[in-house]
Formats: sequence, structure tokens, C-alpha cells
Amino acid sequence: MTDCAYCGCEVEAHDPVYVSEGEPEATATPYCNYGCLAAHVEADGLAVGTTCSVDL
Ligand SMILES: [Zn+2]
Repeated sequence: MTDCAYCGCEVEAHDPVYVSEGEPEATATPYCNYGCLAAHVEADGLAVGTTCSVDL
């Protein structure tokens, strides 16, 4: 049983998405689905100023 990093629900009950940062072997952070991942990114402002090299 794994809890979603965003909402705390059991990810196995949904369509889980796992995100790992850095090394491939690093422990992956679980989310219920892309909706929770997107909501987490949005809520924490993680997309702000992090885009690699896109000219806006
Ligand atoms: Zn969730």
C-alpha cells in the first residue's frame, strides 16, 4: 500500500504515476494519477521558472 504524495489516497486504487528525481535508482514519489501530479506541481509552483530552455 502506497499513499499519494499529494492527496494521501492509496495510489493502487487509481492509475498510479511514479516520479523519481535525479538518479534512476532513487525512490520514486507516488501519485494517484497525472491529475494529482499536476495538482501538486501547480500547488507548489514547481513549474514556475523551471522550464529548460523554451522561449516564451
Ligand atoms: Zn492523489
